[in-house]
Amino acid sequence: MKLPVFDNHVHLRREGRFIEAVKEFERKGGTGILLVNLPIPSDATRPDYFDSMYAEAERLRDSLKASTHISVVLAIGPYPLTLLDLAERTGLARAEELMLKGVETAAEHISCGKADVLGEVGRPHFDVPGEVMEASNRILDACMREARNAGCAVVLHTEDPTPGMMGALALMADRAGIRRGMVVKHHCTDLVLDEENHGIFPSVTASRENVFSAASKGTRFMLETDYIDDPARPGAFMGIGTVPRRVRELSESGRCDESALWKIGFENPATLYGRDRIVQWW
Ligand SMILES: [Zn+2]
Repeated sequence: MKLPVFDNHVHLRREGRFIEAVKEFERKGGTGILLVNLPIPSDATRPDYFDSMYAEAERLRDSLKASTHISVVLAIGPYPLTLLDLAERTGLARAEELMLKGVETAAEHISCGKADVLGEVGRPHFDVPGEVMEASNRILDACMREARNAGCAVVLHTEDPTPGMMGALALMADRAGIRRGMVVKHHCTDLVLDEENHGIFPSVTASRENVFSAASKGTRFMLETDYIDDPARPGAFMGIGTVPRRVRELSESGRCDESALWKIGFENPATLYGRDRIVQWW
């Protein structure tokens, strides 16, 4: 019987392989993706920048839905590193305001049903000056609050995870009033145990080592590639066939039975993103 295969972090672009990549994913056994918006090549200080960026992601999603069968959940939000570009041009205070406006606009799109999830949002994954990190954390806090109000999940881009920083994110979620389980850590390692993730939901990068280790600890996680669909860097990051391959390996090696794979590839995304958005179409 065909198993559910969900890739929880995929970027696509019109000038990349786009629909072709998703058709390959589907051919290889993929059944659903979280499509995450990318910054667009336009002036981020323009008042309509974020609105245009989200509208483009929504058009990409619509095209995928029209030409493939898979479930497509759409995440939109200001990319955390956009703060740095903006700060160079407008100063940090104005950059933070523009980012907060971007968060608000994303929440409006989600509330009226144009998109499903707030993400990827958060803070730079490398060292930045303290004031930039503080501004990023205020934006992250606003993201958690907006996601709580919109009743949606929030997908975080941050530095590499450790149990300590996952605990700090969990406390941040508590203060913002969002359930820890609605906060997804993108680019996570095998932090599947509750004492490792403190309730934050791990989206595990699909290297064989991570995936096998995660599966040995439980089923409360999802898998992701962070496919970037960049024609200039065709071999960068993981290929679109990686998650289907790992699910097959988990099944064939006996590391996961059918019910565990249903949990990872179907129940988990359905619980986080909504049952009407993850459908068994096969
Ligand atoms: Zn990403």
